[in-house]
Amino acid sequence: MNYNISLIPGDGIGPEIVAEAKRVLDKAAEMSGNTFSYKEVLMGGASIDATGLPLTDEAIATCKASDAVLMGSIGGDARTSSWYRLPPDKRPEAGLLKLRKSLNLFANLRPAYLYPELKSACPLKEEIADRGFDLMMVRELTGGLYFGERKTFEKDGVKTAIDTLSYNENEIRRVAIKAFEIAEKRRKKVTLVDKANVLDSSRLWRAVVIEVAKDYPDVTFETMLVDNSAMQLVKDPAQFDVMLTENMFGDILSDEASMISGSIGMLSSASLNETRFGLYEPSGGSAPDIAGRGIANPIATILSAAMLLRYSLDMDREADAIENAVRKVLADGYRTIDIMAEGMKQVGTKEMGDLIIERME
Ligand code: NAD
Repeated sequence: MNYNISLIPGDGIGPEIVAEAKRVLDKAAEMSGNTFSYKEVLMGGASIDATGLPLTDEAIATCKASDAVLMGSIGGDARTSSWYRLPPDKRPEAGLLKLRKSLNLFANLRPAYLYPELKSACPLKEEIADRGFDLMMVRELTGGLYFGERKTFEKDGVKTAIDTLSYNENEIRRVAIKAFEIAEKRRKKVTLVDKANVLDSSRLWRAVVIEVAKDYPDVTFETMLVDNSAMQLVKDPAQFDVMLTENMFGDILSDEASMISGSIGMLSSASLNETRFGLYEPSGGSAPDIAGRGIANPIATILSAAMLLRYSLDMDREADAIENAVRKVLADGYRTIDIMAEGMKQVGTKEMGDLIIERME
């Protein structure tokens, strides 16, 4: 079977880390007997330099016509780059927002996994880090407070600001279904994070997700209030498998989950729509401070490629092979500069790619 993959190298370290992820995808294709056809798409600063726009309609059409999109990162140093003297809707980040919207990517997935070899980078107490954790945050991405009506007004000399948090049951159901489908590929547990003791929107979330849960009898379902979830993430993260939540709670909790797992260079992410299509990207930015030096950590992008195989192409075996290879490379003592520790062997971007490919089986 041939699959079409759009590649968006982007800016800064983007082209370097995407090049390694592409080589890993090629190895996965070879192992599976499938073939991948790639199309490179310009976005962000690279697109501004070439076309004057952060994302063209042609670029969107190419992404839409593919089975999945793998992205590096976009943007430059806001203090020095000429891209940031453009109006906000012409800057690099506007391209990414436009792409997410055009592709209707409503489910954001961010795994947080603690590699035993990187335990020293975990800010949690040793006895908690020793238990390890492996969770997937599923965040609704296109509704809620960030997209609701808002206004600021003044009455009798007093300023008031209003933001609206609204969800309809269809928006909740579609992301809940994604969360349960993902749990079925993992340890079969979903925790719905809400504030149902206070918010009407959370009570609707609970009612809808309880209904969805009935279609997945093999998945354990529980609810947890958001304030308690924030505490439990630092007290006992091992209890979680899939955490499902609305946009703003997810924004905050996914950063908390990233923080407890150590380096930003290790964290992958995916944004999915109603079909199996998805946009896959590392959680970090374009790191302009180290761009072009061949030292960036490609692991987050390589793990994003593994998510692409798992969630868009149903190639679980090859996704497992990549994730296992990353674990082996770390166990063998290889580190890029951002995760370097005493007694380890420091390698560059390309060498890290080679080491992972060698260990894929
Ligand atoms: P950043 O994540 O790019 O960098 C923060 C620090 O982490 C830097 O010291 C950097 O060298 C390091 N770092 C990040 N990724 C790394 C990797 N793979 N390997 C080794 N070190 C790594 O964040 P920033 O400096 O705040 O932002 C730089 C640019 O990236 C900005 O233009 C910002 O808007 C953009 N950005 C883009 C995305 C995206 O494309 N989705 C996300 C976040 C930031």
